[in-house]
Amino acid sequence: MRVFSGMQPSGTPTLGNYLGALRHFVEIQDEAECFYCVVDLHAVTVPQEPAALHRQTRQLSALYLAAGIDPRRSVLFLQSHVPAHSQLGWLMECLVHYGELGRMTQFKEKSEGKEGVSAGLFTYPALMAADILLYQATHVPVGEDQKQHLELTRDLAERFNKRYGDTFVIPEPLIPKVGSRIMSLDDPTKKMSKSSANPGSYISLLDSPDEIRKKIRRAVTDSEAEVRFDPQRKPAVSNLLTIYSSCTDKTIPELEKQYSGVGYGPFKQDLAEAVVARLEPLQERYRELVDSEELDRILAEGATKAKAVAEPNLHLVFERMGFLLPR
Ligand code: ATP
Ligand code: MG
Repeated sequence: MRVFSGMQPSGTPTLGNYLGALRHFVEIQDEAECFYCVVDLHAVTVPQEPAALHRQTRQLSALYLAAGIDPRRSVLFLQSHVPAHSQLGWLMECLVHYGELGRMTQFKEKSEGKEGVSAGLFTYPALMAADILLYQATHVPVGEDQKQHLELTRDLAERFNKRYGDTFVIPEPLIPKVGSRIMSLDDPTKKMSKSSANPGSYISLLDSPDEIRKKIRRAVTDSEAEVRFDPQRKPAVSNLLTIYSSCTDKTIPELEKQYSGVGYGPFKQDLAEAVVARLEPLQERYRELVDSEELDRILAEGATKAKAVAEPNLHLVFERMGFLLPR
């Protein structure tokens, strides 16, 4: 079993990123050979202020480690440190169809109503396919929103194999049953996103306890006062229940029982404390790591290990396609 996954340094990671992806990255280290990437090339598909990109890249790298990614067991690296990603990305752009990219809902959502949408935002799924296929990953842990990109990755791998002979492993998505789509705190019809313009819509992994309490207090609910899990009719409260359950070891039915007849006030207060308690140890480790030389050393070692796997695979692809290899 080989795992690849990535996160973009496009903001500070949110509780959605943690519950839908990062914590599963940590768990699966026991079973698989894992490659975890800070996909910085993906982050610039939308404008990034250079100082912010720089900071967010360190932040995300440190958060991977603080959450429990163990650099002795897993390979942690930056996408831009391994040029094979861009190289295979181009080949994937030449394999994917324009129409397929046009059907991607992430592109539609992120480009809607925007001016000056980059071509990179459109071709993003081709680079993502390259990221995964370069490592011959068998499994890709992701949140629900990435399912469509994963399906395209599988199609591209199959297309390549059919055209040029068996080359790529067809990767399987690993999408958690609970927490795979944490919704925004201000609008339960939208997923929580770290690049959102409204910080009130998400809980960042680096929010202070007071910020967390304030954001949860202000989170939208509904006009009833009943803590009940019903994603159709009570999407906001159901989202808060999912977060609560994921941050503790209480099941959703247990929580419904605990807060029956109590109303939203005490429920939100306890939820905030559960989130604070869950994030505190992670934030402590983060502070030790973020400006350390150890972080740079881990990323340099990670890039070396990643290249050792990615480069031979890239050469195989070039060869299969008929390129002359340099001698
Ligand atoms: P951006 O808004 O810049 O796209 P993002 O919050 O969507 O940021 P990504 O870096 O695109 O974060 O995704 C990293 C991982 O987190 C992916 O596996 C993605 O599926 C997962 N993820 C993102 N948002 C959520 C969410 N709201 N709930 C659960 N998982 C999520
Ligand atoms: Mg995203």
